[in-house]
Amino acid sequence: MSLFIPADYAMVCPNCEEAFIAKHLNTRYCSKACKIWANNLKARQAVKKQQNFHALNDTLAKNRTILRGYRHGQIVHQDALQQQGYDFRYMTYQTEIEGVPCFVCYDTGYQIADKAKKMAKIIHFKNAEIDNDKFTN
Ligand SMILES: [Zn+2]
Repeated sequence: MSLFIPADYAMVCPNCEEAFIAKHLNTRYCSKACKIWANNLKARQAVKKQQNFHALNDTLAKNRTILRGYRHGQIVHQDALQQQGYDFRYMTYQTEIEGVPCFVCYDTGYQIADKAKKMAKIIHFKNAEIDNDKFTN
């Protein structure tokens, strides 16, 4: 009996990180338990990713609803937005209107009207105008 083991069969299990000798070249895991555990982890991560996506969508939708509750051009205290549940970490993108940054949430957004006083100016876009820095309403 030879003690020589071809290098291709000497593997490290990606789950438990133990070195093992595979019986077949297409073996990835050291054991059935490791294979099942790893596949379950993949499934859980996929679910988590989906949940994170839904949570992000919900947050953006809520932000939009809050901004849409104001008139275009209305000056609002940022604390008032926050008290309504506005999450300033999330926006769909950022643009500029006449050199002033505008934080956009779908078809609405806000600009900083007065940084020291934490005042925001509500901007409502019309669909065609979102991409060319114009706004009316
Ligand atoms: Zn293993």
